[in-house]
Amino acid sequence: MSVDPVFRLSVPPVVDAFDFARRGQVVSGAFSIHRLQRLLEGLLEQPIGEATELSVAPALPGVVRYAIQGRVTKDDASQLVVQVQASLVLECQRCLGPLILPIDRTTVFELVRRESDLSDDEPDEDDLDAPEQIVGSPKFDLCELLEDELILEVPYVPRHDQCPETAELDAQADEIASRQEPPSPFAVLGQLKKSK
Ligand SMILES: [Zn+2]
Repeated sequence: MSVDPVFRLSVPPVVDAFDFARRGQVVSGAFSIHRLQRLLEGLLEQPIGEATELSVAPALPGVVRYAIQGRVTKDDASQLVVQVQASLVLECQRCLGPLILPIDRTTVFELVRRESDLSDDEPDEDDLDAPEQIVGSPKFDLCELLEDELILEVPYVPRHDQCPETAELDAQADEIASRQEPPSPFAVLGQLKKSK
């Protein structure tokens, strides 16, 4: 996004959503994931993010970073651009080992005045940039919005792409295979490719 966020220790505030958009306000910061109780339900215990490391370790588990920008489009639509970054510790459902899920999600929300203003149209799947409609209010909780964004990123069945044990077994199998076969340049090439 266009803003250069400053990650001060802060939780997204409750704002007047339309006012926030009209003024083009920006809030950004970082805070402990332990403030997001709805998100934490059902997750493994998350590490406590060290406040002192916020500026140097953006992907540190236990820390949520965010930047939220208000804006009004040429068509006079009030929007919120919400960017959230976090690393969640999940449990792989295949090997039951810990799995770090890095999240970096940006969503454009378009504010409407009331629920009846929400469009009934099916969202255009092809248009990833199409804003998501949301009901704005004078007491709009940006932190809840952020939490919803993170909850959407939690997979129903988290799994490693390749579980650590399996990777080790594969490596051992490769080693055994390489002992049995006479070494050839192609085998070496294969090894190089695999190691990438
Ligand atoms: Zn696994």
